[in-house]
Amino acid sequence: MKIKANNLKRQYELYAAEFDQKVLDVMHSGWYILGEEVSAFEREFADWIGAKFCVGLGSGLDALWISFRLLGIGPGDEVIVSSNAYIACVMGITMNGAKPVFVDSDQYNNIDSSLIEAAVTPRTKAILAVHLFGQCCNMDEIMRVADKYDLIVVEDCAQAHGNHWKGKTAGTFGKVGCFSFYPTKGCGAFGDAGAIVTDDEVLAQKFRVFRNYGSEKKYYNSVVGTNSRLDELQAGLLRVRLSHIEELNRERKRLASRYSELIQNPLIELPRVRPGADSVWHQYVIRCVERESLMRFLNQREIGSVIHYPIPPYLSEAYAYLGIARGSFPNTEKAADEVLSLPMYNGMTEEEQNTVIRALNEFRENGS
Ligand SMILES: *Cc1c(COP(=O)(O)O)cnc(C)c1O
Repeated sequence: MKIKANNLKRQYELYAAEFDQKVLDVMHSGWYILGEEVSAFEREFADWIGAKFCVGLGSGLDALWISFRLLGIGPGDEVIVSSNAYIACVMGITMNGAKPVFVDSDQYNNIDSSLIEAAVTPRTKAILAVHLFGQCCNMDEIMRVADKYDLIVVEDCAQAHGNHWKGKTAGTFGKVGCFSFYPTKGCGAFGDAGAIVTDDEVLAQKFRVFRNYGSEKKYYNSVVGTNSRLDELQAGLLRVRLSHIEELNRERKRLASRYSELIQNPLIELPRVRPGADSVWHQYVIRCVERESLMRFLNQREIGSVIHYPIPPYLSEAYAYLGIARGSFPNTEKAADEVLSLPMYNGMTEEEQNTVIRALNEFRENGS
């Protein structure tokens, strides 16, 4: 049995009839960009998150860079971010000419909140809280430091649709919550899409203007904006997905708890959830010192797995210019050497999951 690390077709098939109907409805409507589907999705998504406003955008990266741009963060400013993040988190900062100031990660793969305060300088303007793999950062500590030094908090919820920190939804702590609806994400579209949520009406309106060439009224442009519009097809399909999101998140939690209960191998370290945090299990990320041989072993059994991420952003070629040496963030580098994301997707069968579990439990030292 061949098992992919992710299986997008399975996720489509769960609600195929509804998705198909929505595609036809939008095609027949004769309106394809920023219309009723987008407005309806923005309302429904804001309600679900518990924010006042949602603005649909072209991607998660757009949500990040436009947030920093409209919050006035640019050259000379610093933004604190986990060294263990996806490269887009860092690009959202550097695209505006601001400087990312990295803080090492902790055993939960998120920013080590006990190290944040020491990274604050007179130039610090914001903290980007990246809720990696579906688990919330320690928002108590992030909000405490932000309040103390008057910093803006932006949340990257691209992997955390609907998770919580002490009962409060990710995306509602900071000034802006940034979401991606890339197909593999918890609320995935069938193409690129993203959004921001905020309680600030003025800011929400600025996003609406900025995403559409800075124009509030057609052909009258108040600022130099961009083209980052959510289209009707993606918005319509996202509404279908959102109408099932609670059951989809529950299914992932169930898959995760089965993994945690049934994987028993001293060579494999299971993921931990921080007390107070909740996880929607965007990924189920184990650690294994012999990761390369484990991956080979799984491959031989036709079981897919993925490394999130093999190279921390500050060590990537793209950010060589930052001049940050290897060894700077030991926990992040250890994670890069040991993490492995197991197959995990909505529509995964018990038989498929049992096959993965059996393989993991049979893995021995030296890859035998
Ligand atoms: C996917 C992702 C992004 C970028 O979203 P895109 O829609 O691919 O631009 C940003 N941050 C994190 C943490 C992500 O996982």
